[in-house]
Amino acid sequence: MSTASINGWRLSSTSPAQSSLKKAALRPSVFARLKYSSSPSPPSLIQNKPVFAAPAPIISPSTWREEMGKDAYEEAIEGLKKLLSEKGDLKAVAATKVEQITAELQTQTSEGKPFDPIEKIKNGYVHFKNEKFDKNPALYGELAKGQSPKFMVFACSDSRVCPSHVLHFQPGEAFVVRNVANLVPPYDKVRYAGVGAAVEYAVLHLKVENIVVIGHSACGGIKGLLSFPDQGPPSTDFIEDWVKIALPAKAKVKAEFGDAPIPELCGHCEKEAVNVSLGNLLTYPFVREGLMKKTLALKGGYYDFVKGSFELWGLEFGLSPSVSVKDVATVLHWNL
Ligand SMILES: [Zn+2]
Repeated sequence: MSTASINGWRLSSTSPAQSSLKKAALRPSVFARLKYSSSPSPPSLIQNKPVFAAPAPIISPSTWREEMGKDAYEEAIEGLKKLLSEKGDLKAVAATKVEQITAELQTQTSEGKPFDPIEKIKNGYVHFKNEKFDKNPALYGELAKGQSPKFMVFACSDSRVCPSHVLHFQPGEAFVVRNVANLVPPYDKVRYAGVGAAVEYAVLHLKVENIVVIGHSACGGIKGLLSFPDQGPPSTDFIEDWVKIALPAKAKVKAEFGDAPIPELCGHCEKEAVNVSLGNLLTYPFVREGLMKKTLALKGGYYDFVKGSFELWGLEFGLSPSVSVKDVATVLHWNL
């Protein structure tokens, strides 16, 4: 059992070894089989005339094709027409596909260009290559040799809160993990190995000096945490189990602000969940060791994209052998 106290409340987790054994014993054996239809033929749409010819790259800077989307549609239609003439039994399926594709093409011509994901990626990369990569040979030359970021950052997967964008991290400056609600789970080799691997790599191999967990306003994951019932079977495959990592934050906020309207509760919980994650980081032995040696610091952050503000707080550690966090240090608040 390891315990940590943060902001006046305590977190505890069973020892990793215990927990792993228990989980391993409960883990069901699972296998999957691909389901094929009785027909051995590949899907008709991509037969002979692939829309995007795998394994050839979908995009390649030296071989951009203008209007790739449109060409691909036309190729697909041609392929289908050929099939129709060759295989009578595919007629109904192929005819439906032709109708579908033709309708999409008509939308394209009558209402301007529809969203084209390949075009978006292509343009984005061309912009990056011309404006960043080619203009900073010294930086990218160094990065080609290796990375030594000072920061490990946990941020939400939310499309509005990219930490490199918000904090202007340049390539090589931040080792980033993004997940739903920017959560750091407690040390657990079985359930959360992906996060564990990232923390281990960042701390032991990259030797980052700071781990920053950044919460944000209007977080869907935290809203979910507040809405899901604490007991009973989950209604989602993954989300509930994941966001429940921050259950101690929910409990604290409900106890302190139980009567407040949901948006206000969410705001408090978004910040408290960051503190839960900071507390959970203490369950990783290599994080504790870094804190003891003062080669590592933990920080909490909160980005409010409605107000346009950013808060940063550090934790003042009074580490005893049993590991406890004694106080929350100065909160810096930028509302520029
Ligand atoms: Zn979020």
